[in-house]
Parts: sequence; structure tokens; C-alpha cells
Amino acid sequence: MHSLNNGKFSFSNDTVKQDLQILIQALDSSISGIILTDNQQPDNPIIYCNRAFERITGYQRQEIIGHNCRFLQKEDRNQKERFMLSQAVKDGAECVVEMRNYQKNGTLFWNELYMSPIKDEHGNVLFFIGVQNDITRRKKAEQELLHQQDIMESQIRERTKSLKDSEDYLSSIVQTVRESLVVLNPDFKVLSVNDHFLKTFKVSREETEGKLLYELGNGQWDIPKLKELLENILPTNNPVEEFEVEHDFPHIGKKLMLLNAHRIELEGQYKDRILIAIEDITDRREIERRKDDFLSIASHELKTPLTTIKGYVQMMQRLLPANASDKYKDILRKTGIYVERLNNLIAELLDMSRIQTGNIELHKETFDFDSAVKEAVENIQSATKTHQINLQGSATNSYTGDESHIVQVINNLLSNAIKYAPESGEVLVYLSRVSNFLKVSVSDKGMGIKMEDQKKIFERFYRVGEIQQRFPGMGIGLYVCDQIIKNHGGTLWVESEPGRGATFNFTLPLDERTSDEQ
Ligand code: ADP
Repeated sequence: MHSLNNGKFSFSNDTVKQDLQILIQALDSSISGIILTDNQQPDNPIIYCNRAFERITGYQRQEIIGHNCRFLQKEDRNQKERFMLSQAVKDGAECVVEMRNYQKNGTLFWNELYMSPIKDEHGNVLFFIGVQNDITRRKKAEQELLHQQDIMESQIRERTKSLKDSEDYLSSIVQTVRESLVVLNPDFKVLSVNDHFLKTFKVSREETEGKLLYELGNGQWDIPKLKELLENILPTNNPVEEFEVEHDFPHIGKKLMLLNAHRIELEGQYKDRILIAIEDITDRREIERRKDDFLSIASHELKTPLTTIKGYVQMMQRLLPANASDKYKDILRKTGIYVERLNNLIAELLDMSRIQTGNIELHKETFDFDSAVKEAVENIQSATKTHQINLQGSATNSYTGDESHIVQVINNLLSNAIKYAPESGEVLVYLSRVSNFLKVSVSDKGMGIKMEDQKKIFERFYRVGEIQQRFPGMGIGLYVCDQIIKNHGGTLWVESEPGRGATFNFTLPLDERTSDEQ
């Protein structure tokens, strides 16, 4: 049984004893730990503890009574709350602290301790009552929260740093890039430009940034078509690609600029900006023009003497003496072949430069298309022993177009089909009618063409990388074919898979009036 047995309380009768008993039972059923300390004895020892105190601390009553409360702190003595407690004891004042305490087995628990003095009628402090609650769970949750806050703060710090780093990184790219860059807001006001822009257009930042794009310089960008394309970028996300502006700019004169514009967005910072990259292609275009001029002049200059040589070779063949040696005949035959090959190469170059300058002339006449193709196939067949060319189907016997150019296309496709299929002996030429178009397909079973090359082979000088060395050629033939077909209002395209051959197709619209169906 618990009792306060230090002689300060004396009980005169049984009723009081009974009351006291109830009081002690009440204290024992409290879930808070409760102690009484005797302030008048040295070191303020504990003179009473309830059951909850035993449960919270893990000590038993006999290990508690007589001790100063400090045993609960074990070695963890430097908590500031301890000094607050001893100050309160000294002052005889109330005090609430939260401190780290340790159970008998060493387990830490957070103790919310409420200390209050019990005084006699003269105000002398006789006892202290201490009420304690184990708030470890709450404390843990608080600490967890703080920890999470720390983690979040450090993540934010890192993110800010990495954003700053990427911004520095981006701005160093923007400053080093050899293109003029302009960033616009959705109202087409210039937000910023890079140094290269200022250098290229010989303008200052002040006269550029904050201005409307269309007001810059002498209105060089105020072009209705460009405006329309730029205005479309944000709503449709369609970039402006390779837009050429030829203009007499202030300070720098007549220049040709190439514009590309895209919508840009930097997560968390901004969206709906437009980045314009401007490249001065005046010099490049001039060099290209000179190269084209050179090719055109060179092929013209070569053509004249070659035509003379061709004539002489033909003359020599006609005047061949009856008793000429086989070696002599063979040399003459080979000379004829090589002169013809050279002639074709130069003709290709001339065609190309005529196309480049827009000087290709079509002599349109009505001719028997099927027969022209048949003749072209026979001609090529007579010159090749390695391949069998199969001609199937029919298109029309009355087509109006430039016969020699169309035949040139057929010849080109056939010689490619033979050249790029050295291991297979078959070529198929298929003629057909599709609606009011004629269609020609030339199929081989050769090496085929990769998807990424299929568009490019129709460009000037493009040859597929890995075959450049193995097969002679200049990469002009298909470009010329494509232009010829386009000039007739038709389309030329290829279907192919690497290693499984290629089929080159073209369609030509049939003139209703001259079509043989009419
Ligand atoms: P060239 O034959 O002189 O290189 P072309 O313009 O006729 O020039 O052809 C361009 C490129 O297309 C060729 O270099 C070749 O890589 C590819 N090519 C053309 N025809 C075929 C074909 N039938 N099969 C595979 N590749 C082809």
C-alpha cells in the first residue's frame, strides 16, 4: 500500500484515512505518471510515485522512492530543460518542460513534465508534485516532420542550384553559338538577343530588346508570309523552317538570311516563348552559285571538243580499212564506248545546270509511249549481257510530252537497276494505267535503299555512303529524272527495303484530249 509516511501529515480519524486511501487509488489509476518530492529534505527526494510512473519509467517503486528525479536522465545531463527545472525548484515556481528521459532498460522516452509546488499557509514550499506524460510518439512525429522539412529544403536548394546551373549552361551555349538568336514573347516583343545577333546586325541591345520584332531595323522582318508563320507557332506548335529573307538591311547592306523559329519552354520558368535562329547565308549562297556557274561553264566547254572527237571517231569507224587489224578495230570500238560514256556524263551535268538555272526546255509532242519504252528497253538490253530486262503491261500509245527526256528517265532508271543489282540478273519494267495517269515501274532485286536515304537520293550529288567507292557515278541522275517528271506534272518515287531490291515508279498525267481512250 502507498502512503505518505514522512510525519508531515497526521491523520486524526478513520474517515480521513479512508479519503486518503481513495485519493491514492485515484492517483494510481491515472495514465499520467505522478510523483511527489519533498522539498524540505536534502536533494529534494521523491517520496511518492504512482503506478503509471513505474510503467512509464520501467523502474519499480523501491528503486524510485528516495531518489532525486535526475536519475531519469541517465548520462544525458546537459539538457537545458534540466536547468529550467532546478531554477523552478529554487524559486518555488511552476514549470513545464519536455525532456529526454531514459527507462531502466536505457530506452529513450520523451517526458512532458509538469512540476508544481505545494506550499504551507506561510508560502513555504513543502513538496513538489510532478505529472509526467510519455510523448515519445508525438516527438517522433515532430522530428520526422522536421526531418522531412530538411530533406525538402535541401531538395529545393539542389533543384534551384541545378536550375541555375542549367540556366548558366544554356546562356553559355546561346552566347557561343554562331547563329543570331532572338527570343520573343507571345506578343512578338524581343525579350533577348545573343551577342552574335548584335554583331551580325551591328545594332545595340537597347535598340533591340523590348521592341516589336517587326519594328526592328528598317522593317526587315515585317513580311506578311513570315508574320503568318510566326503567329502560327504558338497555337499549332508548328515551327518555321528554312525561311529565306533577302533584304537591304541598315548598316550591313543586302544580305540573305535563313530563319528557323520554334516554340520554347523551360519547365517551371516560362512557356510560350518563340526562339528565332537567324543564319547569314549570303556567302554560302554565293559560293553555291559560283560552283553551279563553274559546272555549267565547264560542261559547256567540255561538250564542244567532245562532240568533235565523237564525230572523228564515227568517221574513223566509217573509214575503217578492210584490212585493219583486230587490235585496231578493238581500240576504235572501245574509244567509241568511252567517248559515249563521257558524252553521257557531260550531258547529265549540262542537264543539271540547265535545271538549276531554270533553263530546261521541254519539247512536247505526242508520241507512242509504249513503243518508246520498248525501244529504250531494247537499246539497254543490247548493251548488257548480265541482266535480262522484262517488259510487261502497257500504258498508252499516245502521250504528249518531251520524248527524249522521258526516254532519258527510263534509261537512267534501267541503268541504275543494272548497276546497283550486280548479283541478280532480272529487271522488270511494268507499264500500266491508273485512273488518268500512266505509271511506269522499274524493279530490280539488288541491294535496295535504306528508308532514311530514300528521300535524299533525289537530291543533287547525293549518293548512298557505303556504295560510293564501289560504283561509278555523280549522284545527278535521279535528281534530273525527278525534275523531268515534275516538269511533266508527274511524280517519281521509290519503294525499297535494304537487301530486297528497289522499285522506282513514276506517274504522268494523261492529257484527256490526246489520250488513246478518247
Ligand atoms: P549515281 O547512280 O550516279 O550515283 P543517281 O542520282 O542515279 O546517281 O542515284 C543516286 C543514288 O541512289 C545512287 O548513288 C545509289 O546510292 C542510289 N540508287 C539509285 N538507284 C538505285 C537502285 N536501283 N538500287 C539501289 N540504290 C540505288
